[in-house]
Amino acid sequence: MDYRTWEAGAIKIEVDYDACNGNGTCVEVCPAEVYVLQYDKTVPVNIEECIECCACVENCPQQAIRHSSC
Ligand code: SF4
Ligand code: SF4
Repeated sequence: MDYRTWEAGAIKIEVDYDACNGNGTCVEVCPAEVYVLQYDKTVPVNIEECIECCACVENCPQQAIRHSSC
C-alpha cells in the first residue's frame, strides 16, 4: 500500500496509489468534481467542494479510497 493524503478543513481523503488503476470511476461518480486524473492516478484537488456523499469510496473497484466521513 502507498497511501497519499489530502486534507481540507475537517475532511481527509487518502488514496492508495498502489491500488488505484486510474480507471476514473471516482472522477465520474463524484457529484462535486473533487477528483481529477493525473498520470493515471486520481487526485482530490477540490476537497473543499466535497459534500460527503461517499460515492467515491463506495464505487472504487479497487477500494483505494479512504474518506474521513465515510
Ligand atoms: S475509482 Fe479507484 S481505482 Fe479508479 S481512479 Fe478512482 S481511486 Fe483509482
Ligand atoms: S464523498 Fe462524495 S462529494 Fe466527497 S469526494 Fe467522495 S464522491 Fe465526491
